[in-house]
Amino acid sequence: MAYSAPRGTVDILPEKSGKWIKLEQLLRTISANYNVKEMRTPIFEHAELFNRAVGDTTDVVSKEMYTFADKKGRMLSLRPEGTAGIARAYVENKMYGLPEKLQKVYYMGPMFRYERPQNGRQRQFHQYGVEMLGVESPYVDVECMLMAVTVVEALGIKNVTLHINSLGDDQSRDAYRQALKDHFAPVLDQLCSDCKARFDKNPLRILDCKVDAKNPAMQSAPKTIDYLSDHAKAHFDKVCSLLDDLEIDYVVDTNLVRGLDYYSHTVFEIISDDPKLGAGATVGGGGRYNGLVEELGGPATPGVGFAFGMERLLLALDDDQDDDEDGLDVYIMPLGSEAKDLAVQIIAMLRANGFTCDMDQCDRGLKGQFKSADRYHAHFSMIIGDEEVQKEVVNMKCNHSHTQDEVPLENIVAYIENHMSGGHEHE
Ligand code: AMP
Repeated sequence: MAYSAPRGTVDILPEKSGKWIKLEQLLRTISANYNVKEMRTPIFEHAELFNRAVGDTTDVVSKEMYTFADKKGRMLSLRPEGTAGIARAYVENKMYGLPEKLQKVYYMGPMFRYERPQNGRQRQFHQYGVEMLGVESPYVDVECMLMAVTVVEALGIKNVTLHINSLGDDQSRDAYRQALKDHFAPVLDQLCSDCKARFDKNPLRILDCKVDAKNPAMQSAPKTIDYLSDHAKAHFDKVCSLLDDLEIDYVVDTNLVRGLDYYSHTVFEIISDDPKLGAGATVGGGGRYNGLVEELGGPATPGVGFAFGMERLLLALDDDQDDDEDGLDVYIMPLGSEAKDLAVQIIAMLRANGFTCDMDQCDRGLKGQFKSADRYHAHFSMIIGDEEVQKEVVNMKCNHSHTQDEVPLENIVAYIENHMSGGHEHE
Protein backbone atom coordinates (compact mmCIF):
# COMPACT_ATOMS: atom_id res chain seq x y z
CA MET A 1 0.00 0.00 0.00
CA ALA A 2 1.40 3.37 -1.00
CA TYR A 3 0.88 6.30 1.31
CA SER A 4 0.71 9.92 0.35
CA ALA A 5 1.14 12.98 2.52
CA PRO A 6 -2.17 14.32 3.88
CA ARG A 7 -3.92 16.85 1.63
CA GLY A 8 -2.56 20.33 2.09
CA THR A 9 0.80 19.24 3.50
CA VAL A 10 4.16 19.38 1.77
CA ASP A 11 7.41 17.45 2.20
CA ILE A 12 10.45 19.68 2.34
CA LEU A 13 13.07 17.56 0.57
CA PRO A 14 16.83 17.90 1.15
CA GLU A 15 17.27 19.89 -2.05
CA LYS A 16 14.88 22.55 -0.69
CA SER A 17 15.79 22.54 2.99
CA GLY A 18 18.91 24.65 2.35
CA LYS A 19 16.61 27.52 1.32
CA TRP A 20 14.57 27.11 4.50
CA ILE A 21 17.70 27.24 6.61
CA LYS A 22 18.85 30.39 4.81
CA LEU A 23 15.48 32.04 5.36
CA GLU A 24 15.45 31.01 9.03
CA GLN A 25 18.96 32.36 9.53
CA LEU A 26 18.06 35.65 7.93
CA LEU A 27 14.98 35.97 10.16
CA ARG A 28 17.05 35.13 13.25
CA THR A 29 19.62 37.76 12.28
CA ILE A 30 16.96 40.44 11.80
CA SER A 31 15.37 39.42 15.13
CA ALA A 32 18.71 39.81 16.92
CA ASN A 33 19.12 43.15 15.19
CA TYR A 34 15.88 44.33 16.83
CA ASN A 35 16.72 42.65 20.18
CA VAL A 36 13.82 40.22 19.77
CA LYS A 37 14.37 36.84 21.46
CA GLU A 38 12.99 33.48 20.35
CA MET A 39 10.14 31.88 22.28
CA ARG A 40 8.92 28.33 21.64
CA THR A 41 5.44 27.25 22.66
CA PRO A 42 3.60 23.94 22.08
CA ILE A 43 2.20 23.08 18.68
CA PHE A 44 -1.07 22.05 20.31
CA GLU A 45 -2.95 23.95 23.00
CA HIS A 46 -6.34 23.66 24.68
CA ALA A 47 -8.99 24.37 22.04
CA GLU A 48 -10.57 26.84 24.43
CA LEU A 49 -7.50 29.08 24.22
CA PHE A 50 -8.11 29.76 20.52
CA ASN A 51 -11.89 30.09 20.98
CA ARG A 52 -11.17 32.76 23.53
CA ALA A 53 -8.19 34.51 21.96
CA VAL A 54 -8.83 34.32 18.23
CA GLY A 55 -12.62 34.27 18.65
CA ASP A 56 -15.19 31.55 18.01
CA THR A 57 -16.95 33.53 15.27
CA THR A 58 -13.79 33.83 13.15
CA ASP A 59 -13.32 31.51 10.17
CA VAL A 60 -9.96 30.41 11.57
CA VAL A 61 -11.60 28.98 14.69
CA SER A 62 -15.09 28.04 13.55
CA LYS A 63 -14.16 26.43 10.22
CA GLU A 64 -10.44 25.82 9.94
CA MET A 65 -9.17 24.51 13.26
CA TYR A 66 -7.89 20.95 13.73
CA THR A 67 -9.51 20.07 17.04
CA PHE A 68 -9.51 16.63 18.64
CA ALA A 69 -10.10 14.91 21.97
CA ASP A 70 -7.07 13.25 23.53
CA LYS A 71 -7.30 9.91 25.37
CA LYS A 72 -8.58 11.66 28.48
CA GLY A 73 -11.20 13.56 26.51
CA ARG A 74 -9.43 16.95 26.69
CA MET A 75 -10.22 19.10 23.68
CA LEU A 76 -6.99 20.16 22.03
CA SER A 77 -6.24 22.08 18.83
CA LEU A 78 -3.26 22.25 16.55
CA ARG A 79 -2.29 25.89 16.65
CA PRO A 80 -3.74 27.87 13.72
CA GLU A 81 -1.61 30.92 14.60
CA GLY A 82 1.11 31.89 17.05
CA THR A 83 -0.10 34.86 19.09
CA ALA A 84 -2.55 33.01 21.35
CA GLY A 85 0.10 30.52 22.53
CA ILE A 86 2.63 33.29 23.18
CA ALA A 87 0.07 35.32 25.18
CA ARG A 88 -0.93 32.19 27.15
CA ALA A 89 2.74 31.44 27.95
CA TYR A 90 3.36 35.09 28.84
CA VAL A 91 0.61 34.90 31.47
CA GLU A 92 1.44 31.39 32.70
CA ASN A 93 5.14 32.22 33.13
CA LYS A 94 4.34 35.61 34.68
CA MET A 95 6.48 37.38 32.13
CA TYR A 96 4.62 40.60 33.00
CA GLY A 97 6.63 40.58 36.25
CA LEU A 98 10.03 40.61 34.49
CA PRO A 99 12.22 43.68 35.04
CA GLU A 100 12.02 44.62 31.35
CA LYS A 101 8.49 45.87 30.89
CA LEU A 102 8.63 45.53 27.11
CA GLN A 103 9.06 41.87 26.18
CA LYS A 104 9.94 41.33 22.52
CA VAL A 105 9.75 37.75 21.25
CA TYR A 106 9.60 35.89 17.96
CA TYR A 107 8.49 32.40 16.95
CA MET A 108 8.94 30.31 13.87
CA GLY A 109 7.22 27.05 13.03
CA PRO A 110 4.28 25.13 11.61
CA MET A 111 0.67 26.29 11.86
CA PHE A 112 -2.43 24.32 10.87
CA ARG A 113 -5.61 25.44 9.17
CA TYR A 114 -8.20 23.27 7.46
CA GLU A 115 -8.47 25.39 4.33
CA ARG A 116 -8.99 24.47 0.70
CA PRO A 117 -5.41 23.89 -0.50
CA GLN A 118 -4.46 26.08 -3.45
CA ASN A 119 -1.49 28.00 -4.70
CA GLY A 120 0.12 29.55 -1.61
CA ARG A 121 -2.42 27.99 0.79
CA GLN A 122 -1.65 24.84 2.70
CA ARG A 123 -3.15 23.04 5.67
CA GLN A 124 0.21 22.84 7.37
CA PHE A 125 2.21 25.99 6.68
CA HIS A 126 4.86 27.96 8.53
CA GLN A 127 4.88 31.37 10.11
CA TYR A 128 7.52 33.67 11.47
CA GLY A 129 5.94 36.04 13.94
CA VAL A 130 6.95 38.76 16.38
CA GLU A 131 5.13 39.89 19.51
CA MET A 132 5.95 42.98 21.57
CA LEU A 133 4.15 42.89 24.91
CA GLY A 134 3.91 45.29 27.82
CA VAL A 135 3.90 48.83 26.42
CA GLU A 136 1.11 50.74 24.74
CA SER A 137 2.89 53.22 22.57
CA PRO A 138 2.65 54.16 18.93
CA TYR A 139 6.46 53.97 18.90
CA VAL A 140 6.22 50.23 19.53
CA ASP A 141 3.60 49.82 16.77
CA VAL A 142 6.01 51.52 14.42
CA GLU A 143 8.99 49.43 15.56
CA CYS A 144 6.91 46.37 14.71
CA MET A 145 5.98 47.67 11.28
CA LEU A 146 9.54 48.73 10.61
CA MET A 147 10.72 45.24 11.46
CA ALA A 148 8.15 43.72 9.10
CA VAL A 149 9.29 46.08 6.34
CA THR A 150 12.95 45.17 7.08
CA VAL A 151 12.11 41.50 6.52
CA VAL A 152 10.57 42.02 3.09
CA GLU A 153 13.34 44.39 2.06
CA ALA A 154 16.06 41.96 3.19
CA LEU A 155 14.43 39.28 1.05
CA GLY A 156 14.27 41.58 -1.95
CA ILE A 157 10.48 41.22 -2.30
CA LYS A 158 9.37 43.69 -4.93
CA ASN A 159 6.48 46.16 -5.09
CA VAL A 160 5.46 45.93 -1.47
CA THR A 161 2.97 48.25 0.15
CA LEU A 162 2.31 48.67 3.83
CA HIS A 163 -1.45 48.94 4.39
CA ILE A 164 -2.55 50.29 7.74
CA ASN A 165 -5.80 51.00 9.51
CA SER A 166 -7.05 51.48 13.04
CA LEU A 167 -9.83 49.50 14.71
CA GLY A 168 -9.63 51.77 17.75
CA ASP A 169 -10.00 51.00 21.45
CA ASP A 170 -12.99 49.42 23.25
CA GLN A 171 -14.94 52.66 23.16
CA SER A 172 -14.38 53.05 19.39
CA ARG A 173 -15.23 49.43 18.75
CA ASP A 174 -18.51 49.67 20.69
CA ALA A 175 -19.54 52.69 18.62
CA TYR A 176 -18.46 50.94 15.42
CA ARG A 177 -20.28 47.72 16.30
CA GLN A 178 -23.49 49.68 16.75
CA ALA A 179 -22.93 51.48 13.43
CA LEU A 180 -22.44 48.13 11.67
CA LYS A 181 -25.63 46.76 13.20
CA ASP A 182 -27.60 49.83 12.12
CA HIS A 183 -26.12 49.45 8.64
CA PHE A 184 -26.76 45.73 8.16
CA ALA A 185 -30.12 45.43 10.00
CA PRO A 186 -32.27 46.52 7.01
CA VAL A 187 -30.51 44.04 4.63
CA LEU A 188 -30.05 41.16 7.05
CA ASP A 189 -32.39 38.85 5.15
CA GLN A 190 -30.12 39.14 2.05
CA LEU A 191 -27.09 37.87 3.95
CA CYS A 192 -25.98 34.25 4.44
CA SER A 193 -26.86 32.26 7.55
CA ASP A 194 -23.33 32.66 8.97
CA CYS A 195 -23.66 36.41 8.67
CA LYS A 196 -27.02 36.36 10.44
CA ALA A 197 -25.30 34.64 13.38
CA ARG A 198 -22.36 37.08 13.17
CA PHE A 199 -24.81 40.00 13.27
CA ASP A 200 -25.77 39.12 16.84
CA LYS A 201 -22.45 37.81 18.12
CA ASN A 202 -19.79 39.81 16.31
CA PRO A 203 -20.93 42.08 13.44
CA LEU A 204 -17.32 42.99 12.55
CA ARG A 205 -16.82 39.48 11.17
CA ILE A 206 -19.56 40.06 8.55
CA LEU A 207 -16.91 42.08 6.71
CA ASP A 208 -14.72 38.96 6.20
CA CYS A 209 -17.56 36.94 4.67
CA LYS A 210 -16.55 35.37 1.38
CA VAL A 211 -20.16 34.42 0.47
CA ASP A 212 -21.55 37.94 0.80
CA ALA A 213 -18.43 39.76 -0.42
CA LYS A 214 -20.25 41.16 -3.49
CA ASN A 215 -23.33 42.38 -1.63
CA PRO A 216 -23.61 46.18 -2.14
CA ALA A 217 -24.12 46.59 1.61
CA MET A 218 -20.55 45.36 2.10
CA GLN A 219 -19.10 48.10 -0.09
CA SER A 220 -21.09 50.83 1.65
CA ALA A 221 -20.43 49.56 5.20
CA PRO A 222 -19.23 52.12 7.74
CA LYS A 223 -15.47 52.45 8.26
CA THR A 224 -13.74 51.94 11.60
CA ILE A 225 -11.72 55.09 11.12
CA ASP A 226 -14.86 57.25 11.39
CA TYR A 227 -15.66 55.87 14.85
CA LEU A 228 -12.34 56.31 16.64
CA SER A 229 -12.36 57.78 20.14
CA ASP A 230 -10.09 60.80 20.78
CA HIS A 231 -7.52 58.52 22.41
CA ALA A 232 -7.56 56.03 19.53
CA LYS A 233 -7.37 58.80 16.96
CA ALA A 234 -4.36 60.38 18.70
CA HIS A 235 -2.63 56.97 18.78
CA PHE A 236 -3.24 56.41 15.07
CA ASP A 237 -2.19 59.94 14.10
CA LYS A 238 1.10 59.44 15.94
CA VAL A 239 1.68 56.12 14.16
CA CYS A 240 1.17 57.85 10.82
CA SER A 241 3.44 60.77 11.66
CA LEU A 242 6.21 58.45 12.86
CA LEU A 243 5.97 56.47 9.61
CA ASP A 244 6.16 59.77 7.72
CA ASP A 245 9.25 60.84 9.68
CA LEU A 246 10.93 57.51 8.94
CA GLU A 247 9.95 57.86 5.27
CA ILE A 248 8.17 54.53 5.24
CA ASP A 249 5.57 54.43 2.49
CA TYR A 250 2.12 53.30 3.55
CA VAL A 251 -1.49 53.59 2.54
CA VAL A 252 -4.35 53.98 4.96
CA ASP A 253 -6.69 51.17 3.92
CA THR A 254 -10.02 51.76 5.66
CA ASN A 255 -11.29 48.32 4.59
CA LEU A 256 -8.56 46.48 6.50
CA VAL A 257 -10.06 44.76 9.56
CA ARG A 258 -8.03 41.47 9.77
CA GLY A 259 -9.77 38.17 10.42
CA LEU A 260 -8.96 37.63 14.10
CA ASP A 261 -10.90 39.06 17.04
CA TYR A 262 -8.05 40.10 19.30
CA TYR A 263 -7.00 43.17 17.33
CA SER A 264 -7.49 46.74 18.54
CA HIS A 265 -5.98 50.06 17.43
CA THR A 266 -3.41 49.67 14.64
CA VAL A 267 -3.72 46.81 12.13
CA PHE A 268 -1.45 46.39 9.13
CA GLU A 269 -0.69 44.13 6.21
CA ILE A 270 2.20 43.90 3.82
CA ILE A 271 0.88 43.32 0.33
CA SER A 272 3.12 42.56 -2.61
CA ASP A 273 2.61 42.72 -6.34
CA ASP A 274 5.81 40.74 -6.91
CA PRO A 275 4.89 38.53 -9.89
CA LYS A 276 6.48 35.56 -8.10
CA LEU A 277 3.86 35.82 -5.37
CA GLY A 278 0.85 36.61 -7.54
CA ALA A 279 -0.75 40.03 -7.66
CA GLY A 280 -1.94 41.48 -4.39
CA ALA A 281 -0.61 38.66 -2.21
CA THR A 282 -0.61 39.32 1.52
CA VAL A 283 2.85 38.34 2.68
CA GLY A 284 2.15 39.09 6.29
CA GLY A 285 0.16 41.17 8.68
CA GLY A 286 -0.43 42.07 12.25
CA GLY A 287 -1.59 44.67 14.66
CA ARG A 288 -2.17 45.70 18.22
CA TYR A 289 -4.09 43.48 20.66
CA ASN A 290 -4.46 45.35 23.92
CA GLY A 291 -7.20 43.17 25.42
CA LEU A 292 -5.73 39.74 24.76
CA VAL A 293 -3.52 39.13 27.80
CA GLU A 294 -6.28 40.22 30.16
CA GLU A 295 -8.77 38.03 28.29
CA LEU A 296 -6.49 35.08 29.06
CA GLY A 297 -6.42 35.81 32.78
CA GLY A 298 -3.34 38.02 33.00
CA PRO A 299 -3.05 41.64 34.09
CA ALA A 300 -4.10 44.26 31.52
CA THR A 301 -1.11 44.22 29.14
CA PRO A 302 -0.93 45.86 25.74
CA GLY A 303 0.65 43.99 22.85
CA VAL A 304 1.44 44.38 19.18
CA GLY A 305 2.78 41.88 16.66
CA PHE A 306 2.85 40.51 13.15
CA ALA A 307 3.23 37.20 11.33
CA PHE A 308 4.59 36.30 7.92
CA GLY A 309 3.80 33.19 5.94
CA MET A 310 7.21 31.61 5.44
CA GLU A 311 6.20 29.73 2.29
CA ARG A 312 5.42 33.12 0.72
CA LEU A 313 8.72 34.58 1.87
CA LEU A 314 10.48 31.60 0.30
CA LEU A 315 8.80 32.11 -3.06
CA ALA A 316 10.45 35.49 -3.16
CA LEU A 317 13.81 34.05 -2.18
CA ASP A 318 13.66 31.28 -4.76
CA ASP A 319 15.31 32.51 -7.96
CA ASP A 320 18.33 34.52 -7.07
CA GLN A 321 19.92 32.20 -4.53
CA ASP A 322 20.38 29.05 -6.58
CA ASP A 323 24.08 29.18 -7.32
CA ASP A 324 25.62 29.69 -3.93
CA GLU A 325 24.85 26.19 -2.71
CA ASP A 326 27.29 25.18 0.00
CA GLY A 327 29.61 22.43 -1.22
CA LEU A 328 31.55 19.80 0.68
CA ASP A 329 35.15 20.45 1.61
CA VAL A 330 36.25 16.92 0.72
CA TYR A 331 34.69 13.96 -1.07
CA ILE A 332 36.72 10.79 -0.39
CA MET A 333 36.94 8.22 -3.16
CA PRO A 334 38.34 4.87 -2.02
CA LEU A 335 39.09 2.16 -4.60
CA GLY A 336 39.13 -1.28 -2.98
CA SER A 337 38.57 -2.60 0.52
CA GLU A 338 41.91 -1.59 2.07
CA ALA A 339 41.44 1.92 0.72
CA LYS A 340 37.97 1.98 2.22
CA ASP A 341 39.28 1.02 5.66
CA LEU A 342 41.78 3.88 5.41
CA ALA A 343 39.06 6.26 4.14
CA VAL A 344 36.97 5.59 7.26
CA GLN A 345 39.90 6.66 9.43
CA ILE A 346 40.57 9.77 7.38
CA ILE A 347 36.97 10.90 7.22
CA ALA A 348 36.62 10.62 11.03
CA MET A 349 39.78 12.67 11.46
CA LEU A 350 38.65 15.33 8.95
CA ARG A 351 35.21 15.66 10.52
CA ALA A 352 36.80 15.98 13.95
CA ASN A 353 38.81 18.86 12.48
CA GLY A 354 35.62 20.57 11.38
CA PHE A 355 35.66 19.83 7.65
CA THR A 356 32.46 18.88 5.83
CA CYS A 357 33.07 15.62 4.03
CA ASP A 358 31.58 12.45 2.70
CA MET A 359 32.82 9.27 1.04
CA ASP A 360 31.61 6.69 -1.43
CA GLN A 361 29.69 3.85 0.24
CA CYS A 362 28.69 2.06 -2.95
CA ASP A 363 32.07 0.59 -4.00
CA ARG A 364 31.84 2.32 -7.34
CA GLY A 365 34.60 2.92 -9.86
CA LEU A 366 36.28 6.29 -10.31
CA LYS A 367 33.79 7.64 -12.83
CA GLY A 368 30.76 7.21 -10.59
CA GLN A 369 32.60 8.64 -7.61
CA PHE A 370 33.73 11.71 -9.54
CA LYS A 371 30.09 12.32 -10.44
CA SER A 372 29.20 12.38 -6.73
CA ALA A 373 32.09 14.75 -5.96
CA ASP A 374 30.68 16.99 -8.66
CA ARG A 375 27.08 16.81 -7.41
CA TYR A 376 28.22 17.68 -3.89
CA HIS A 377 30.29 20.61 -5.22
CA ALA A 378 33.29 19.18 -3.37
CA HIS A 379 36.29 21.47 -3.11
CA PHE A 380 38.59 18.43 -3.07
CA SER A 381 38.24 14.90 -4.39
CA MET A 382 40.51 12.64 -2.35
CA ILE A 383 41.42 9.53 -4.31
CA ILE A 384 42.78 6.50 -2.44
CA GLY A 385 43.86 3.43 -4.44
CA ASP A 386 46.10 0.45 -3.56
CA GLU A 387 49.21 2.41 -4.44
CA GLU A 388 48.27 5.28 -2.14
CA VAL A 389 47.55 2.81 0.70
CA GLN A 390 50.98 1.28 0.17
CA LYS A 391 52.77 4.64 0.14
CA GLU A 392 50.67 6.07 3.03
CA VAL A 393 49.56 9.02 0.94
CA VAL A 394 46.35 10.26 -0.65
CA ASN A 395 45.79 11.92 -3.99
CA MET A 396 44.17 15.34 -3.57
CA LYS A 397 42.47 16.84 -6.59
CA CYS A 398 41.34 20.42 -6.17
CA ASN A 399 38.16 20.93 -8.16
CA HIS A 400 38.59 24.70 -8.17
CA SER A 401 42.18 25.05 -9.41
CA HIS A 402 42.23 21.62 -11.12
CA THR A 403 45.59 20.80 -9.56
CA GLN A 404 46.46 17.40 -8.18
CA ASP A 405 48.95 16.55 -5.41
CA GLU A 406 50.12 13.49 -3.55
CA VAL A 407 49.82 14.28 0.16
CA PRO A 408 51.28 12.20 3.03
CA LEU A 409 48.63 11.10 5.52
CA GLU A 410 50.03 13.22 8.33
CA ASN A 411 49.90 16.38 6.17
CA ILE A 412 46.30 16.18 4.98
CA VAL A 413 44.83 18.79 7.34
CA ALA A 414 47.69 21.25 6.82
CA TYR A 415 47.44 20.77 3.05
CA ILE A 416 43.70 21.47 2.97
CA GLU A 417 44.00 24.49 5.25
CA ASN A 418 46.85 25.95 3.24
CA HIS A 419 45.04 25.34 -0.03
CA MET A 420 41.75 26.78 1.16
CA SER A 421 43.31 29.90 2.60
CA GLY A 422 44.74 30.65 -0.81
CA GLY A 423 48.28 29.40 -0.10
CA HIS A 424 48.11 27.22 -3.16
CA GLU A 425 48.13 30.11 -5.60
CA HIS A 426 51.63 31.03 -4.40
CA GLU A 427 53.11 27.54 -4.55
P1 AMP B 1 -2.87 35.44 9.44
O1 AMP B 1 -2.38 34.74 10.68
O2 AMP B 1 -4.16 34.88 8.92
O3 AMP B 1 -2.85 36.92 9.56
O4 AMP B 1 -1.80 35.08 8.30
C1 AMP B 1 -0.52 35.64 8.26
C2 AMP B 1 0.20 35.16 7.03
O5 AMP B 1 0.35 33.74 7.11
C3 AMP B 1 -0.57 35.37 5.74
O6 AMP B 1 -0.34 36.64 5.23
C4 AMP B 1 0.01 34.30 4.84
O7 AMP B 1 1.24 34.72 4.30
C5 AMP B 1 0.27 33.18 5.81
N1 AMP B 1 -0.79 32.16 5.78
C6 AMP B 1 -1.98 32.17 6.42
N2 AMP B 1 -2.68 31.06 6.15
C7 AMP B 1 -1.92 30.32 5.31
C8 AMP B 1 -2.08 29.05 4.66
N3 AMP B 1 -3.18 28.31 4.83
N4 AMP B 1 -1.08 28.60 3.85
C9 AMP B 1 0.03 29.33 3.68
N5 AMP B 1 0.24 30.54 4.26
C10 AMP B 1 -0.71 31.03 5.07
